[in-house]
Amino acid sequence: MNARDLDRHDADAPIFDAAAFRLGRGEADLIDSARRFGARVLAPRAALHDRDATFPIETFRDMHSEGLLAICIPEADGGLGASYRTYCLAAAELGRFCGATALSWNMHVSSTLWTGALADDLMMTVEERAEHNERRRLHYKRIVGDGAVYSQPFSEGGAAAAGGVAFGTEAKPVDGGFRVNGKKIFASLSGAADYYGVLCTERGEGEGASRRNTLYLAIPADAQGVSVVGDWDPLGMRGTVSRTLLFKDVFVPEDEMLMPRGVYFRAATSWPHMFLTLSPTYMGLAQAAYDFTVAYLRGELPGTPPVKRRMYPTKQIAVAEMRVTLEQTKALWFQAISEARANPTKDQVLRAYAAQFTVMENANALAAKAIRTCGGQAMLRSLSLERIYRDSRCGSLMLPWTAEICLDRLGRESLYEAGEKDE
Ligand SMILES: Cc1cc2nc3c(=O)[nH]c(=O)nc-3n(C[C@H](O)[C@H](O)[C@H](O)COP(=O)(O)OP(=O)(O)OC[C@H]3O[C@@H](n4cnc5c(N)ncnc54)[C@H](O)[C@@H]3O)c2cc1C
Repeated sequence: MNARDLDRHDADAPIFDAAAFRLGRGEADLIDSARRFGARVLAPRAALHDRDATFPIETFRDMHSEGLLAICIPEADGGLGASYRTYCLAAAELGRFCGATALSWNMHVSSTLWTGALADDLMMTVEERAEHNERRRLHYKRIVGDGAVYSQPFSEGGAAAAGGVAFGTEAKPVDGGFRVNGKKIFASLSGAADYYGVLCTERGEGEGASRRNTLYLAIPADAQGVSVVGDWDPLGMRGTVSRTLLFKDVFVPEDEMLMPRGVYFRAATSWPHMFLTLSPTYMGLAQAAYDFTVAYLRGELPGTPPVKRRMYPTKQIAVAEMRVTLEQTKALWFQAISEARANPTKDQVLRAYAAQFTVMENANALAAKAIRTCGGQAMLRSLSLERIYRDSRCGSLMLPWTAEICLDRLGRESLYEAGEKDE
């Protein structure tokens, strides 16, 4: 291998080196195959779906053939059995090549991770466990066998997605299932997913709405009463096609419960890292902004003239600062995803908020600095940097752990122990 090949190899290397971060062999192999899939399949399609704000459904079909739709489905059910951390690292690799596809993939995979490894960690009665295992097999079979795609609409435009109040989308118990009514905004994969994994509140006649009665239902996209409305022409993450979903008297059979009654509430309160899964995409975008800058300043970016700009001290300082930010982001995030578990300590939860905040803010800060450092020719639409910049801007807006909410909780929970008041 000559020096130039070595450089190329470095730029293509995994974000988290297997030896340096002590990854297991199987874990590293899975992450590596995601990285190669991202370079081969996502990268060449990213610009088109971004320009037209269309969903990359053909990529999801290819993910099915590669087994990636089933990455977090237990091996016993025909999946790849990836752990939470392995999934996060694989998703970061996809995020390097197309933020929108990685983010949409997260919505799909989370539905299998939450019902899989995460649910295995939760306290359930013997009956609940048996019911859950039987029902999830149905969903896993659709994904493994037919390549079914699931999405995860929980945002409603009110305080529910931040965890403050019960979801306004309601499921009324009826014979054999539920009658669902409501609205979800920013539903990534709208019009593309086969099933919408909807969070809603079970509410019988005369009952009040309570977060404890949150239900997690898989609603078939073609069920009567489901519609997709509104347009989708956002700043970034355009390929997620996150339009509005309406549910009008939709009948959902009981078997479509993705978790038994009460278990979603238990998950949200005892497995908080479940909400950190939006961050891997943005970890990948942070790395992509850095990689772009190094390749561009070296005069090695495909599609640009081989002009070197690396000899200017100001460029070197900028890259040094970017490297410091990237290493800080990687270190904190890797620690947070490595310690995800049921009933984490207070420090672990605060670290997860800090990691989410850091990844979301730094991905965009790195992209902004990349544009300033590389200069005008680097932000043309023919190159990926301006898309990385726009996509990365969306990270800190993602509920339930927006950058503002992370800061809010970090400040309050660092200064107050549970139950403490000032009076
Ligand atoms: C590209 C993209 C894809 C998305 N995909 C999905 C998806 O698939 N499924 C899904 O459910 N959602 C999805 N979302 C939605 C996202 O998670 C948010 O729900 C959405 O951005 C909220 O927008 P809003 O203006 O209604 O926020 P608002 O609820 O109005 O909040 C505005 C801001 O106020 C702050 N805030 C809100 N509540 C509190 C609080 N209690 N305490 C302190 N601060 C608070 C937050 O910082 C928030 O950013 C997506 C968003 C984007 C940008």
